[in-house]
Amino acid sequence: PEDALDASPSRVPVGIDPNRPSIARVYDGFLGGKNHYAVDREVMERILTVVPEAADIAQGNRRFLNRACRFLATQTDISQYLDCGSGLPTAENTHQIVHRTNPEAHIVYVDNDPVVLAHGRALLEDDELVMMAKADIFSPTTVLGHELVERYLDLSAPIVLLQVGTMHHLEGERAPELMREYIDALAPGSYVVLSHFYDPEVPELTKVAKRIEDILVHGPMGAGRFRTREEIEAMVPGLEIVKPNATGEPRLVPCYQWWPDGPQLKAPSLASQCIGGIVARKP
Ligand code: SAM
Repeated sequence: PEDALDASPSRVPVGIDPNRPSIARVYDGFLGGKNHYAVDREVMERILTVVPEAADIAQGNRRFLNRACRFLATQTDISQYLDCGSGLPTAENTHQIVHRTNPEAHIVYVDNDPVVLAHGRALLEDDELVMMAKADIFSPTTVLGHELVERYLDLSAPIVLLQVGTMHHLEGERAPELMREYIDALAPGSYVVLSHFYDPEVPELTKVAKRIEDILVHGPMGAGRFRTREEIEAMVPGLEIVKPNATGEPRLVPCYQWWPDGPQLKAPSLASQCIGGIVARKP
């Protein structure tokens, strides 16, 4: 029930640690969701103190995810989606966007957060095409060998692999290697959707990135890296990047610039330039 997720520790369901902030809950909070505890709000407030427009990162990321799903559902024949680190259900989830044009598509969501798994399973209870798997997305063999992935996705045919807002939560240098493992397992014609905290290497933007990174990496979350264009593009080895807009070269762009829905009346905030996205195809 909804009220089982309220901030009072005595009413927190078993298996959920109310004393540690969760990536999924903090992100959902920045999207305007209600599933957060006091520890999550503390992280949000610390970030908002140093970067008041920080929610633009989460919102720019989520809108990119939505546009990328719409593009792939309407313009490819792919009917299988593997959404890694899918997060708490919010408005316009992957399966809802894809099913609007391709009602037969199979979608497997993967996450390891108990609140995400509980909400996801409740939402998808009667859905035979959409599954919620519990696995560590930083272990590609575990994800690809998961019972639900094996049962609902055919990896010998093209799929869409989503790693949206996830790889920046991996500390260290293993992200390109892990992505290569995923990509090696995909059939030609598959697509990868990737978004990542982005340091555009422009002093005023790097400053914004570093302020948030400091709180994420050195605070109770323990992870959240802003990486450069070169570091993020290295996560789609051997793939053809889809042109990000009518005039742009095929490369990483800030998420808000990836095929925007229409004219943008407001100037983008500094924060909105610090999340980058790529859609790429395996030849
Ligand atoms: N993909 C969604 C989006 O972009 O809107 C949600 C992104 S949210 C920032 C990151 C998600 O990745 C969270 O739901 C978190 O629980 C999940 N996650 C982080 N590390 C994970 C891991 N090692 N295994 C599985 N899920 C993980």
